[in-house]
Amino acid sequence: MIATMGLFSGDGAGILARRLKKYGAQITGGLHLKMPDSIADEKALKRPLEKNRELVLAAERKIHKAVQDIQRGRTPREGIGLLYHLAGLFGQRLYFYGKTQHYSDQVKINPEKCVGCGKCVGLCPMKNLELVQSTVKAGDRCTMCYRCINTCPKQAITLLGKKIVEQGTIEKYVKIDKNHS
Ligand code: SF4
Ligand code: SF4
Repeated sequence: MIATMGLFSGDGAGILARRLKKYGAQITGGLHLKMPDSIADEKALKRPLEKNRELVLAAERKIHKAVQDIQRGRTPREGIGLLYHLAGLFGQRLYFYGKTQHYSDQVKINPEKCVGCGKCVGLCPMKNLELVQSTVKAGDRCTMCYRCINTCPKQAITLLGKKIVEQGTIEKYVKIDKNHS
């Protein structure tokens, strides 16, 4: 299982593992990868471009090392097991769950900017966005993934902040690592 995270995930890989086990999946290991920030509308939560690029390179190196370890018979177990489970529960979920609940109906669409392209509607994993007469209406199921906010071509969507500071998509942060090319 591979889980991405901003700073700390606790047991991100473990959560996925527990869910998939119910469907018969066999879980052999877990890996946690720090990735660029996604909060596009809050300056205080943005990292500089170079820092985000470094994070992606570090993630690539970590994946490369994990592959080598697996080939040598040592599968990484990040996020899997009781200690990680407790870290995720007390270090993250109990605190953030209440916070994210508070924002579940706070997605804002600027009707003056929205052109009704529908891109955000198709991307929302929660089916929280709906195209109504050439503009978008948001419901109350947002989980703050920021997918729609980072990809709206008109920067018409906000959540925590009032306007877009910088949209982040992975293409911006990927560049060739000469050490591993
Ligand atoms: S992606 Fe942006 S412009 Fe397109 S429908 Fe959604 S809010 Fe409107
Ligand atoms: S932030 Fe994520 S969950 Fe919330 S409306 Fe946008 S795509 Fe959907």
